[in-house]
Formats: sequence, C-alpha cells, structure tokens
Amino acid sequence: MKKITIAIDGFSSTGKSTLAKQLAKELEYVYVDTGAMYRAVAYFAMQHSLISADFFKKDALIEGLSDIRLEFRFNSDLGFAEMFLNDENVEKQIRTIEVSNFVSKVAAVSEVRAKLVEQQQEMGTNKAIVMDGRDIGTVVFPNAELKIFMTASAETRAQRRFDELQQKGDNVTYEEVLKNVMDRDYMDTHREDSPLVIADDAIEIDNSYLNKEEQFAAVLELVNDVVKLD
Ligand code: C5P
Repeated sequence: MKKITIAIDGFSSTGKSTLAKQLAKELEYVYVDTGAMYRAVAYFAMQHSLISADFFKKDALIEGLSDIRLEFRFNSDLGFAEMFLNDENVEKQIRTIEVSNFVSKVAAVSEVRAKLVEQQQEMGTNKAIVMDGRDIGTVVFPNAELKIFMTASAETRAQRRFDELQQKGDNVTYEEVLKNVMDRDYMDTHREDSPLVIADDAIEIDNSYLNKEEQFAAVLELVNDVVKLD
C-alpha cells in the first residue's frame, strides 16, 4: 500500500496524540509527538534556570541549543516512543503543568523552532509517518497527503487534561488547567513565527461530541480515500 505523510494539528488537548497513536498502530507508521520536543526544550530551560514565572533568558537558551539532543526511543511495553533529552528519559517530567506553563514561550523562539523543524523533516523523509503538533501541515510538511486540524471547546479540553493530570496524581485545579489551555491557545495563535493556523487544505474535526472510536473511524476513512485516489 502507498505510504503517505499524515499531519495532525490543532489546539492543545484536542486528543491529537490519541488519534495519531491509533493511526500509527493501525497503519504501522511512525508516530512523532512534536509537542514532546518543545516540552523537552522547555524542561531543559527550567533545569538550567533560564526560565521562571518572572524571567526568560532567551539568548542564553539560544546559545544552549547546541547542547540539546532530542531523541525518541520506542518502548515496546508502552507501544510508543518516549522522549529522551541528552540520554535521559524525560517523558514524565515534560507532562507536568509547570512545563505546560512555560512551553509556549519557548516554542515562540525562532531558533528553537528552526532546530526542531529540521529534525522533524528528517524523520519524515521516508513518509509512513503520523506527526502531530501546531505547524505540521503548514510548515513542517506542507505537502502532506492528509492534513487534519482538530478543535474542541476550551472547557472540554481543560476537563480532559484535568482528568488526566488528576489520574497521574498531579495536584492541580480545573481552573488552573483551563487557564493554561486558554493562555497556550492565545500564545500559539498569536506568535510571529509559525502561528497555529489551519492549513488551506486541512480537514477540520471538532471532537467536542465525538468519542475516540467515532473519530478514529472517520479519519481512517479519510486515509483510505487518500491512499485509493493515488
Ligand atoms: O502538543 P502539546 O500540547 O504537548 O504541545 C506543547 C506546546 O508546544 C504547545 O502549546 C505549543 O506551544 C508548542 N508546540 C509548537 N509546535 C508544535 C508542537 C508544539 O509550537 N509543532
């Protein structure tokens, strides 16, 4: 069967990664969570005291970029790849609300984006890839055969993220999560470099009222249409 590139973009906590993982498993494609890469850079900045609630040493981060090595390593027990920052597994650390609070500032830095986009494009040279993020269909793979743009109301997304964080034992309030979701929406759509916008040829899916199975079935049909067309 013909191998294609699938770009999944959208607002935070729209279930992009769940859908992308389902597709990658079904199609035996590689799955790349680009949010994890931006999160790992934000975590690096936090570790090196380059960012906090009241400062951001952007130039020092840019200088430090050459010390950052990001790698996905497949974990066969989990069935997906985990994020490694300079050989350390940071999968757990990058999912905290603290990292979520800083990541969009770090992701607005052009030098950070250039480094990560280059690595992402390299990962996609052989196609057979599902990549999710904010700029995949617009910047990373503008020629992707299938582009999906996912949305849902901020309240629905915050509730999902809140449930997830609570399950992990994170001590957060719903209001804190809702604020984080709305702040990131604002920063991600208003930054100068590669703002979150829907690509002209993307198919929009509002999943506020779709369950995971319905959504997966709908997207799989889209994949089959694209593959058949060629
Ligand atoms: O997808 P996730 O919510 O983990 O992404 C975390 C943050 O990383 C986003 O809010 C956004 O600021 C940034 N990001 C980005 N471009 C991508 C993926 C993520 O700017 N391709």
